[in-house]
Amino acid sequence: MGPMRKDLCPSVSSIEPSRFCGPSWAGRCLEIDSALPIVVIVYDPRFLDHVPSPLHVERPDRLRSIVERLERERLFHGVETPPTATIADLRLAHRESYVDLVRNLGEGFLDPETAVHRDTFDIALLAAGGVLLATRSAVRDGHPTIALVRPPGHHAGPDYGGGFCYLNNVAIAAAEQVAAGRRVAILDYDAHHGNGTRDIFAESPAVLYVSTHEYGIYPGTGPAEDTGTDEGRGFTVNIPFTAGCGDASYAAALDSVIEPILGQFRPDVVLVSLGIDAHYRDPLTSLTLSSPAYVDLVKRSADLAARLCANRFTIALEGGYHLEALSEVIAGVVAGIEGRSIPLALTDVLDDKGRGREAIEATKRAHRDFWNLR
Ligand SMILES: [Zn+2]
Repeated sequence: MGPMRKDLCPSVSSIEPSRFCGPSWAGRCLEIDSALPIVVIVYDPRFLDHVPSPLHVERPDRLRSIVERLERERLFHGVETPPTATIADLRLAHRESYVDLVRNLGEGFLDPETAVHRDTFDIALLAAGGVLLATRSAVRDGHPTIALVRPPGHHAGPDYGGGFCYLNNVAIAAAEQVAAGRRVAILDYDAHHGNGTRDIFAESPAVLYVSTHEYGIYPGTGPAEDTGTDEGRGFTVNIPFTAGCGDASYAAALDSVIEPILGQFRPDVVLVSLGIDAHYRDPLTSLTLSSPAYVDLVKRSADLAARLCANRFTIALEGGYHLEALSEVIAGVVAGIEGRSIPLALTDVLDDKGRGREAIEATKRAHRDFWNLR
């Protein structure tokens, strides 16, 4: 097991207190439950230097609001600084020609909303390094980790970028684990389909890629019938929700698709591509998850990892563009995994009937030859 929460006490820890949250941290010893793990946070203020264009929704304030909320809740502890990913790391998921293109572009665009500037490649390397570090740490020590990074990654494929993504942070970390002989499950809860991650691992039976997304919006991919290709058939699982799907639909997807398939796949490590843009307050999509349901979704995924692969569980930030929703869900997730709860304001339940039933049935039909699904 990894470091437990008692490690936050000065009497039992060699970790310098300044890494935690100031004078108030000492009081935490009174409320510590040593049975629950701390969540190791990977973060670097240099992520704030990435500004694709003025007024872009994928903006530095996203991370500022998350860190502020974590600090306010006394959850911004155990923070580690990421290394820069190497070119060899990137080659695990991307073609050399694409890496060279982004590295040498200078000023330009991968698509109209994905601008490249002189510092973009270096910050993208740091984001990839953040998810690499978080994943290595989770695998080595058997504790949950969260990489609070920008830019996001799941729309970057083997030889393309776009959708605010340059390098596929999660895919690079997953590919490193596969190279070490491990089976990796990627749960992509961003509201958009992770076409990049899908394309990188479509042929691989060592990576189970599961995506819940609003089907029909950007990037347009991710129907239930796409189950992967060649040896990878059955290891791509798309749950293509429609506008309005939220709390009850995600709970049903967990119950009837995600949990049973993960249990049969038996991963060695679970990575979550966590976008908060399926929230009902998000301006970019029409999915309707509430904050408590989001926290529950990720908490249940963490519980699965605790049961199936000894807490080797890493969360990587993808999208999410409403600052209050974004920050309260991320803080709620960190608190929830540590056995605490924090007050959540955005609690409207807009889907209590399970509007996504049809999408879930389509996924089950597409996968009945691969997995035992009731
Ligand atoms: Zn998204």
